[in-house]
Amino acid sequence: MKRAPLFLILGIFSVFVAAAFASLGHSAAARSAAGEEKFVLVVHGGAGNWKTESPEQLDADKAAINKAAETGYKILASGGSSLDAVEATLRVMEDSGLFDAGRGGYYDRDGVPELDSAIMDGRTLGAGAVAAVKHVANPISLARLVMEKTPHVLLVGDGAEQFAKSQGIELVSPYYFYNERYWKMYQEMKAKEKNKSAQIPGNDRKVYGTVGAVALDQAGNLAAGTSTGGTPLKMPGRVGDSPIIGAGTYANNDSCGISGTGVGEFYIRNTVASDICARVRYLHISLAQAADDVVMKELVQQKGEGGIIGLDPKGHVATPFNSNGMLRATVTDGGKITVKVFNE
Ligand code: ASP
Repeated sequence: MKRAPLFLILGIFSVFVAAAFASLGHSAAARSAAGEEKFVLVVHGGAGNWKTESPEQLDADKAAINKAAETGYKILASGGSSLDAVEATLRVMEDSGLFDAGRGGYYDRDGVPELDSAIMDGRTLGAGAVAAVKHVANPISLARLVMEKTPHVLLVGDGAEQFAKSQGIELVSPYYFYNERYWKMYQEMKAKEKNKSAQIPGNDRKVYGTVGAVALDQAGNLAAGTSTGGTPLKMPGRVGDSPIIGAGTYANNDSCGISGTGVGEFYIRNTVASDICARVRYLHISLAQAADDVVMKELVQQKGEGGIIGLDPKGHVATPFNSNGMLRATVTDGGKITVKVFNE
């Protein structure tokens, strides 16, 4: 067989190289023109009546969510996975003691924090969740272990804690969760409640602080996670939407990643997170439109207070909320962190 002349081989090779560069350049330019990002992280610190937060407290909350967003951003910027970014971000939020999650989890009716959390991988649809755990400092990491080390999706209570021990997670005493501010709030709510008939969890809600994160990594994979102590004065054993896949947490590379915050009962009844993604998938509407339709119309009609953070595979962000505020932070591949609370 005759060999092709060298100039012909080089010529063909250079055409390929040029085409590859052109397509890279084009897609980068096209992406930024379309508001698309290579990697993005969105974080929330809960939806609710943020107007009751003092300016000093608000500054502390903003600093904490900023630190969490920075942590997740570093992972994404160095090529890490969206799952790692979501977990690391939420651990910072859980450890801060400033939010209704991890160290800051609200007390239930008996004065005990019971924590719920979930994480979902948009690439594989793998999901892990824990509910009603009382001795786990970082429920988001335990949720991830459920996803990666068990054939199950959701473990609750003692079983979840036994599993934590088997994975080398040290169980903490209830004192780990002692928080002066939330204890005071618990006592005040209890005192008020004495004068009223039994409170339906979530009604007359003034508080916030669930945490959530959604990330898109450089490989184009979405992940979402949520962690919470639930609604204050909830009945012992009550489980909210956060650890229910499709209600408070959902991720699917074909449509979107969502973390919700609000009165969980509404999020469960309306399967809010998966409904938003299903609308994107089947109605071919934007994430912003789908999220708005669910949070600002359906939930509002039902008086279901709350909000969501969402990301689609192109890096478009949606953060609608129907309460007066939702603490949230967004960081895109340029590294700029934007923190907001109200409709700013
Ligand atoms: N969704 C959480 C729950 O109902 C509470 C919240 O987001 O504030 O457990």
